[in-house]
Amino acid sequence: MTIDKKTRIAVIGAGLGGAAVAALLKKEGFNVAVYEQADKFERLGAGIHIGPNVMKIFRRLGLEERISLMGSHPEFWFSRDGLTGDYMSRIELGQYALDNYGAAYITIHRGDLHEVMLSPLGSDLHFGKKLDRIEDSGDEVGLFFTDGTEVQADIVIGADGINSKVRECLLGEEEPTYSGWVAHRALITGARLREFQNEFEPCVKWWTEDRHMMVYYTTGKQDEYYYVTGVPEAEWNHDAPWVESSREEMYSAFDGYHSTVQNLIEATDYVTKWPLKNRKPLPLWSSNRLVLLGDACHPMKPHMAQGACMAIEDAAMLVRCMVEVGVDDYETTFKYYEANRVERASKVQAISNANTWLKTQEDPSWCYGYDVYADALKEPQQESQPAQHAVAE
Ligand SMILES: Cc1cc2nc3c(=O)[nH]c(=O)nc-3n(C[C@H](O)[C@H](O)[C@H](O)COP(=O)(O)OP(=O)(O)OC[C@H]3O[C@@H](n4cnc5c(N)ncnc54)[C@H](O)[C@@H]3O)c2cc1C
Repeated sequence: MTIDKKTRIAVIGAGLGGAAVAALLKKEGFNVAVYEQADKFERLGAGIHIGPNVMKIFRRLGLEERISLMGSHPEFWFSRDGLTGDYMSRIELGQYALDNYGAAYITIHRGDLHEVMLSPLGSDLHFGKKLDRIEDSGDEVGLFFTDGTEVQADIVIGADGINSKVRECLLGEEEPTYSGWVAHRALITGARLREFQNEFEPCVKWWTEDRHMMVYYTTGKQDEYYYVTGVPEAEWNHDAPWVESSREEMYSAFDGYHSTVQNLIEATDYVTKWPLKNRKPLPLWSSNRLVLLGDACHPMKPHMAQGACMAIEDAAMLVRCMVEVGVDDYETTFKYYEANRVERASKVQAISNANTWLKTQEDPSWCYGYDVYADALKEPQQESQPAQHAVAE
């Protein structure tokens, strides 16, 4: 095991994947600095599911209990027919997840989670650093930021999301493709929910043929409810990453849906709309001193609620490879990383894009029961194969 504290590791992007990789590297004693384009993070209106597969990684970081206390712990994931309300699946979570998958299944506010995940980084996190250009001289990498500053690094981890600059440096400029679907996102306060004589289930996905609404609580106190949709929309012609939507647009998109969904739309004070974008599987995940993770590497439609989970699993596997294989021969280390991630990440990407996950009764143990630390590392093949599973939609 080689932990060379002199190796300068730069992480580009402090999203959930970047925060995870930096915190795990720090914990292992590496010298890491994170560069994030945003000036600060805000608690935007979005929730997230975190599966037991990722809670085990938070355990390693010493953050599991804190995160677990903040989140809602649904007993089930229900899938229901959007029109009739009939149950299509009842997937056991709660105590079942603890007993069978080795950790809790939670739903939580994304901003609350992110804040906890950033907490170990301290002064190693640099805000307001938008990467503009990379110069890889072979011996080290120059990182040039839009504010005119530059730093040198030995290893660069691209955790900079779907529009990754690091990906662009590896593979050239290419816009992600718009999938033809948008996601609406809204947070509803507990007070608004109490206006209705209705029972709001802690984690439920309402489905019809071409659209859905996923709904869940984002706090342990269950005083904040969140929905995120998938709705077809032929074109996305906005430059902004998201736009405001409206209650009227929601009524029209979910016309005929069950009365519970109508209640949620009625309770909506503010709703945003996001384009769902995608990429074809990348032919490589690393080159020389640069390596990718998360959405920079394998973006997906969010319908399996595992996109960020895959970014965090990537982070954990990459750090594991850096510890077990070392950082001197980083190219071999990165091959180990890819060999131990590509199949699983591509499978999740394909299922997520197809939007079939838990629609009917199925066993999710291959996904939720996974432990990134459990099995011995798989050796890389001579030539790593591009992912076969994923279909970009
Ligand atoms: C509607 C919706 C719902 C979702 N729900 C879930 C869910 O329930 N569960 C789940 O696991 N996943 C979910 N996802 C997916 C998840 O959000 C992404 O897969 C995840 O955020 C990817 O993390 P990341 O760290 O790779 O990238 P990002 O979260 O995109 O982070 C990238 C970071 O890099 C920064 N950055 C970008 N470019 C630069 C640059 N040039 N220089 C410096 N910094 C830069 C960005 O500001 C950002 O902070 C959802 C996604 C959407 C759209």
